[in-house]
Amino acid sequence: MYSLNQFPLPFSTKDLEPYMSERTINFHHGKHLATYIKNLNDLSEGTKYADLSLNEIIIKSANDESAKKIFNNAAQVYNHSFFFNCLSKEKTTMPEEIINSFGNADNFFEQFKSVAASVFGSGWAWLIRDSNNELKIISTANADTPIAHNLKPVMTIDVWEHAYYLDYQNRRTDFIDSVLKNIINWNFIKENLEK
Ligand code: MN
Repeated sequence: MYSLNQFPLPFSTKDLEPYMSERTINFHHGKHLATYIKNLNDLSEGTKYADLSLNEIIIKSANDESAKKIFNNAAQVYNHSFFFNCLSKEKTTMPEEIINSFGNADNFFEQFKSVAASVFGSGWAWLIRDSNNELKIISTANADTPIAHNLKPVMTIDVWEHAYYLDYQNRRTDFIDSVLKNIINWNFIKENLEK
């Protein structure tokens, strides 16, 4: 059984204003993530997934047609926890490795924004490290997550409508731009690059 306490916000609910409102955080963490956790508990109870770690549930259910709902909810728990950890009110600095990989910071921002803005429907934009150790920007649809594809997540932005609609309505690109420029926790991203 999982609980919301295991996936705490690494900041307080008002910290990301005006870029991400307290209202959005309260819904996103307190309602959306909480519901994915409840669904995961309800669906996995009494199954072979009940006692596995979150990562094990995701990797095993990814190839189990009968466990699609378990996969979706487990992956959403993972993705949201990862996403909230990617955010901070502190001013931090983009790691050198990202700047070097993409030529400069603006190129990285432009490529990330372009991938994130072109997700059709619900999904996620990611910086990942692939099996050749290269950094790439990809998107995943709905609940899908890099760890189901043997890719190492480094950074993500949630581009489901619930992530931005209260603050930005239909202006997804403004939301992505605002998050990238103002509230990314580059220290967490750096830790992920070094893992
Ligand atoms: Mn979300």
